[in-house]
Amino acid sequence: MNHADVAIVGGGPAGLMAAEVLSQAGLAVSLFDAMPSVGRKFLLAGKGGLNLTHAEAFDAFVSRLGARADALRPMLERFGPQQVREWAEGLGIATFVGSSRRVFPTDMKAAPLLRAWLHRLRHPAPGGVPVRFHMRHRWQGFAPDGSLRFSTPDGEATVSTRATLLALGGASWPRLGSDGAWVPWLRDAGIEVAAIEPSNCGFDVAGSGVHGATEGWSALFTTRWAGQPFKTVALALDAPGERHWHRGEFVATASGVEGSLVYALSGALRERIATDGSATLWVDLLPDHSAERVQAAVAHPRGSRSLSSHLKGRLGLDGIKLALLNECLDREAMHEPMRLAAAIKALPLRLLRSRPVAEAISSAGGVRFEALDAHLMARSRPGLFVAGEMLDWEAPTGGYLLTASLASGVWAGEGVLRFVGRTRG
Ligand SMILES: Cc1cc2nc3c(=O)[nH]c(=O)nc-3n(C[C@H](O)[C@H](O)[C@H](O)COP(=O)(O)OP(=O)(O)OC[C@H]3O[C@@H](n4cnc5c(N)ncnc54)[C@H](O)[C@@H]3O)c2cc1C
Repeated sequence: MNHADVAIVGGGPAGLMAAEVLSQAGLAVSLFDAMPSVGRKFLLAGKGGLNLTHAEAFDAFVSRLGARADALRPMLERFGPQQVREWAEGLGIATFVGSSRRVFPTDMKAAPLLRAWLHRLRHPAPGGVPVRFHMRHRWQGFAPDGSLRFSTPDGEATVSTRATLLALGGASWPRLGSDGAWVPWLRDAGIEVAAIEPSNCGFDVAGSGVHGATEGWSALFTTRWAGQPFKTVALALDAPGERHWHRGEFVATASGVEGSLVYALSGALRERIATDGSATLWVDLLPDHSAERVQAAVAHPRGSRSLSSHLKGRLGLDGIKLALLNECLDREAMHEPMRLAAAIKALPLRLLRSRPVAEAISSAGGVRFEALDAHLMARSRPGLFVAGEMLDWEAPTGGYLLTASLASGVWAGEGVLRFVGRTRG
């Protein structure tokens, strides 16, 4: 049996941030990760530019965490969007605010930031203690005596600790290390865990019936348009009252839809599918045009022009937008101006299911805040702390995921400090 004063399991943004807090306070930290190197999902996020955080007003930022906003607010007050930017800048990585108020490193990359961060963890300022990294150590749950069980290249190992901080991530992109295998182990330890579900994910569409397919797009649509974006459209969920439209972009996939606009609605869509069996997503293909303008343009005599050149000429509607209309409307509806105009402004797409969590950007569900005290320590297991995406919260894309993961890493790290009776150096 090995002993570690403080063990952190999981070297994503949350675990690394907790390690930084503890090492700077002079604690000896051993960080274990299943993979050959840490921060793999963080590096992948860098492929999309590494949206570190968001520069909107603080209250608006907190509200993006939806049902868990209250639980995360104190953590974001302690280490929020502004602190994330200062922290990156402290590592020599300048940031900038993009047009959508999203914040990125100026070089839009994750690797230089991660490199500088790991260097600081291995070579801390005076007073700090270098973090010890143990790669290829896959945590397998608790041994009967409460110690941590790992599978390692040299066989099984157990590690006893004074305090343990789990930062194992969610269950998206499992090949990067986070696979959600910990759910039953924590449940067995008496810690309440909400089922892991896909968040910021794509959805499969039901067939429109027009082309005979009961599920998915027609072969013609998939072959030509899968992977192509719908630019400047608006989406709304089926709502009994007024529809609330969200503008942006989404992408056609081989079996349905994905992309930022769909991700933003993914939590609500998931819940609607769970209660009703399917969810209707309304698409406004021309959000910059009023319904009246679209009606007038569609009804305008087109002479000998084909319908497609009429729609292109009068409304600039062509490409994938026209293809979607042809996919969802039969010939009769396409040639009836009132029906066509109504469909251009509100086309229903029935969604059957979310894509699997392995394909999602992030996951919802995880360790319930009710199972934890105010410092993210398990009520039923003193000395065991939890941070990052494995907690039961979800957020849209836009830098909220990384910021909340980092913030909870700081918070849980400080919880460990309190637990082991030290103050920050
Ligand atoms: C394609 C993609 C792009 C993204 N882009 C952004 C973005 O631009 N902005 C943003 O805010 N968010 C983004 N995210 C989300 C963000 O990367 C995650 O929310 C964040 O990494 C979660 O941090 P974490 O530390 O909680 O978990 P993770 O980063 O998942 O790290 C968990 C670590 O735990 C290790 N681990 C898991 N299980 C075990 C085990 N049993 N034993 C030992 N180690 C284990 C894993 O190997 C991993 O290193 C993106 C995600 C994806 C998939």
